[in-house]
Amino acid sequence: FPETGEERYPGFLGVPIIQHRKVLGVLTAQTRASKSFDEDSVSFLVTIGAQLAGAISHAEASGDINGYLGKKTHKAHPLEGVSGAPGVAIGTAMVVYPLADLEAVPDRHTGDPAVEEASLQQAVDAVRKDIRKLLTRLEQLALPAEDRALFNAYLMMLDSGGMVDRIKEKIRAGNWAPGALRESVAEHVQLFQEMDDPYLSERASDIHDLGVRILSYLQQSGAGKRIEYPGRTILVGEDISATLLAEVPPKYLAGVVSVRGSINSHVAILARALGVPAVMGVGDLPVARVDGRDLIIDGYLGRVYVEPPAPIQAEYQRLYEEERELSAGLRELRDLPAQTTDGVRVPLYVNSGLLADIQPSLESGAEGIGLYRSEFPFMVRDRFPGEEEQARVYRQVLNSFPDGPVVMRTLDVGGDKALHYFPIIEDNPFLGWRGIRLTLDHPEIFLVQLRALLRASEGLRNLHVLLPMISTVAEVDDSLRLIRQAYQELLDEGLQISYPPVGVMVEVPSAVYLADVLSQRVDFFSIGTNDLTQYLLAVDRNNARVAHLYDSLHPAVLRALKQVVDTAHNHKKNVSVCGEMAGDPAAVLLLLGMGIDSLSMNASSLPKVKWVIRNFSGAQARALLGEVMQYEDFRQIRARLNQALEQAGLGGLIRPGK
Ligand code: PEP
Ligand code: MG
Repeated sequence: FPETGEERYPGFLGVPIIQHRKVLGVLTAQTRASKSFDEDSVSFLVTIGAQLAGAISHAEASGDINGYLGKKTHKAHPLEGVSGAPGVAIGTAMVVYPLADLEAVPDRHTGDPAVEEASLQQAVDAVRKDIRKLLTRLEQLALPAEDRALFNAYLMMLDSGGMVDRIKEKIRAGNWAPGALRESVAEHVQLFQEMDDPYLSERASDIHDLGVRILSYLQQSGAGKRIEYPGRTILVGEDISATLLAEVPPKYLAGVVSVRGSINSHVAILARALGVPAVMGVGDLPVARVDGRDLIIDGYLGRVYVEPPAPIQAEYQRLYEEERELSAGLRELRDLPAQTTDGVRVPLYVNSGLLADIQPSLESGAEGIGLYRSEFPFMVRDRFPGEEEQARVYRQVLNSFPDGPVVMRTLDVGGDKALHYFPIIEDNPFLGWRGIRLTLDHPEIFLVQLRALLRASEGLRNLHVLLPMISTVAEVDDSLRLIRQAYQELLDEGLQISYPPVGVMVEVPSAVYLADVLSQRVDFFSIGTNDLTQYLLAVDRNNARVAHLYDSLHPAVLRALKQVVDTAHNHKKNVSVCGEMAGDPAAVLLLLGMGIDSLSMNASSLPKVKWVIRNFSGAQARALLGEVMQYEDFRQIRARLNQALEQAGLGGLIRPGK
């Protein structure tokens, strides 16, 4: 290139800068000496190139270097995360961060501990009042007491004396209140962090959060300080806590984006309960530079766009409006049966976990609960719930659909769903102590839950029990023994209960191949396509970096599903699908074709799925299945199904990029 004057430099080394298989540019080094570069220099430049690639795409995504690379791209690069709650949100980023820098507080000798203690108490009382206000706000949002347990735990941390007493001790030992607070919070935080468990560090950040709130009152900056929320606030942060979310007045809250966290984080659970789209685990988000900028979040695909070009904005605006119109239109389907044009009935059930899900479930026109994730009431508490406590919650769930089936899955923790009061530290948690493996190792926990489930079913006949993460028949045999034991105990105690149908989740590949022997032991199957897909494809369901490889329409997944349905039907057992796939309109066509007996999904997907079922015939679905089973790649399969939906006039159900 004559214009660079490079003739003087005959030595040349160039390495490509590549991100996600795309060449962003070339990094070059030139020398006056005419020489070959040695291996170390090449490796060094390759390393710099690989690191630059991440930084460049980061800066491109945030718009910071738009046009610097010689071309003003009008292609929007979304930031990739994972879906936390479905939906599209368009709004303004509001970055939330800790209010005050607790770590920066110095130690300072106090001459008057009594005065310091009094100001600490005032600050603690003020924080307690704030949290109560948050609780009231959540109550107004009709979030039931059950789902607000986390905030009660915060109150308990302040009430129970532990941390507050420790701060006072330190004041009496001579430190001023802010210093004593910093010391005490650091002690507590360290205690949790040392356990090296991600869920415990989440709890550590709760304690830190409380400490910061107390500090801001101590500094007299918290009182009276009002935050101006944009009209359509998209809450953005490194690690958005449930408290930060609850602080935004609901009429302003449009969406949530968090750098850390996954679909199972408290904040994602809350966002789903409130119907607010959320994207979690957006590792590349340049938090420090997005405050006040326009964001679009796609909660279906787990994508975030920062100030995207006009065509993308227009497209999402259209989708947003269509989504609102569509849901208004679909409400009319509520009382119509989920039945194909040639009369095949496929009951549609909801997935639930929070009591807050129940009202939307009833409104969606569901015929029952196909999956109750019983770990949720365990996750929003600070300890294992007792038998009475569990029975009360389960009773409400069973009562919500007295005439439909309610499938209660036994505790499924481990993997990415840990209980902060029951730490599990493993290198490979998804292949570790999860679901039934854990409960069978702790019969004292399992039996309490089984007894609570059976007790809750007294006078009702809708309880079904579902066992998660089954990978061997021994796990089923052992579980059945415990279920019979709990049942017998309760009969002996004089309860009028009937023995429930018991089923297993098919979510581990081994269960696919064991479907025949499992059929001889259980009454029904429920296929958990979220885990089954992740285990069949060896793709972490929460890892944004490999998200493009994760699709339940993968031919291997389809073959596994078909095999389970066929085997179960040969043994006259019903099969349901309760993973996210059941709420995917394109996938539903294939599940229909396989002859699935029922589907269970989020309440928000149910009307769309009903719409699909009512617009296709069983024969059409079988023909489509036969056709796509010949395809080798999931992208081809998805494209063909999208085309079928378009042809049937259901194009409005297809998400962009899918
Ligand atoms: C699944 O794995 O598909 C499933 C429904 O269970 P969960 O998402 O709770 O792991
Ligand atoms: Mg699962």
